[in-house]
Amino acid sequence: MTSERYDILVVGGGNAGCTAALAAARSGARTLLVERYGFLGGTATAAMVGPWMTFHSGTERIVGGIAQEIVERLVAIGGSPGHLVDSSDYVATITPFDPEIHKALLFDLMRESGVELLLHAYFLNALREPRASVGGGRFATVGGQREIRAEITIDATADAFVAASAGVELQTGDSRGRVQPASLMFRLSHVDLAQLSSYVRTHPDQMRTSLKAHERTPDALTAVAGLYALWDAARLRGDVDVPRELVSFFISPYADEVTVNMTRVTDIDPLDPDDLTRAEVEARAQTMQLLAFFRRSVPGFANARIAATAAQIGVRESRRIVGAYTLTADDILSARQFPDAVARSAYPIDIHNPSGAGTTTYRLAPGAAYEIPYRCMLPAAVDRLLVAGRCISTTHEALASTRLTPTVMTLGQAAGSAASMALRSGAALRDVDAAGLRERLVADGVDLRRAVAAGV
Ligand SMILES: Cc1cc2nc3c(=O)[nH]c(=O)nc-3n(C[C@H](O)[C@H](O)[C@H](O)COP(=O)(O)OP(=O)(O)OC[C@H]3O[C@@H](n4cnc5c(N)ncnc54)[C@H](O)[C@@H]3O)c2cc1C
Repeated sequence: MTSERYDILVVGGGNAGCTAALAAARSGARTLLVERYGFLGGTATAAMVGPWMTFHSGTERIVGGIAQEIVERLVAIGGSPGHLVDSSDYVATITPFDPEIHKALLFDLMRESGVELLLHAYFLNALREPRASVGGGRFATVGGQREIRAEITIDATADAFVAASAGVELQTGDSRGRVQPASLMFRLSHVDLAQLSSYVRTHPDQMRTSLKAHERTPDALTAVAGLYALWDAARLRGDVDVPRELVSFFISPYADEVTVNMTRVTDIDPLDPDDLTRAEVEARAQTMQLLAFFRRSVPGFANARIAATAAQIGVRESRRIVGAYTLTADDILSARQFPDAVARSAYPIDIHNPSGAGTTTYRLAPGAAYEIPYRCMLPAAVDRLLVAGRCISTTHEALASTRLTPTVMTLGQAAGSAASMALRSGAALRDVDAAGLRERLVADGVDLRRAVAAGV
């Protein structure tokens, strides 16, 4: 078996893993990013999930750093229109992007920053070392198994595969172990949004929004949530049986194409291979129902075609680590601040019903933002391992906000920076100087100004 040695090994090339690897390599650490697919971007590309939400709280941009750099680079090459006001008023702004251009950009960024890549390599198990520490991982590749040793390993697999194998305590789902449903995303092309805008203008009650009629700008539709009458009629006719309560899609960088987030497979354990198989099959059948629904029922979609379906179903939730701190719903809704905060977000707690239709939303106060402490990425009792992205230490409710893409990108950058600081100083990850880490992140563009605390 081949064996190699790196300073920092990042497992999982989703947006958290990519920003972690970029931050680590830019600080001079010899960094390897390992990914099971032949491209990077994870849920944003393989599962085609977008738009990114949200870089803003009210009018203030609260996400910077590598996340904002990625958006600016995408805009420069025509892969994103940038941050747009959310016409459904769910969040302040949404950031559509083209997953194909994102894939290409991520390779460019890795090359420019000196991140080494190993693609088509499936993580098998952690290399466990004495005193509960992780010394790297073992991977299945097309050339057989490969062992990769590293001073520090970052688990950015979203499913906490490395942490699980290293013996880190884990939690799954709500108090009954139920996780949010999974959704297969698809894009529809050849759509005429002007026709839909006319419909919306004459049927304002059909849109989910808290905006008053005179505040709405139907000509600038960026996110569509509602169309209740069309959806309910289709359900009554038996055209669709998707457990969704409304129609939901978003504009893309292209005038005639939208990204649809409507399929829903409930009661699944995404880490059970049989459940995952059922989910892919069910979601694809739902996609065909939805295509027929859009063509028949939604103004402007008569000639719609499926431009693409995701390579894999999007998993909103699976396992989370138990870390040195566990972020709660209360921390989020009270816009709590932490001395070791490394990321900010204003996304609401948005829980899609694990077992049926319906989505529950709990909002922060207007203009507020909450913080995520470094300790959420630090496994409670295992050394030389950090966790970035979806599977950090939170409750089920808090995860329903922290899982969003701009946040996981910021967490990745923080993990890569913390790992390289620990490497340089020789300190254990749990002893990384939080003030120094925050200074470093701010210097690298991360927005850590004090959160606007709602009454705190
Ligand atoms: C249906 C759905 C809708 C969503 N809607 C939005 C939205 O509108 N806006 C928004 O901002 N966010 C949204 N999210 C949330 C967001 O997309 C994800 O939570 C986020 O992208 C997760 O990023 P990550 O880097 O933590 O994980 P991922 O992007 O999942 O990356 C994990 C990476 O690890 C790799 N990997 C996993 N296991 C292994 C292994 N064993 N070996 C090697 N590699 C491995 C994977 O291939 C992947 O590349 C949504 C998510 C879903 C599923």
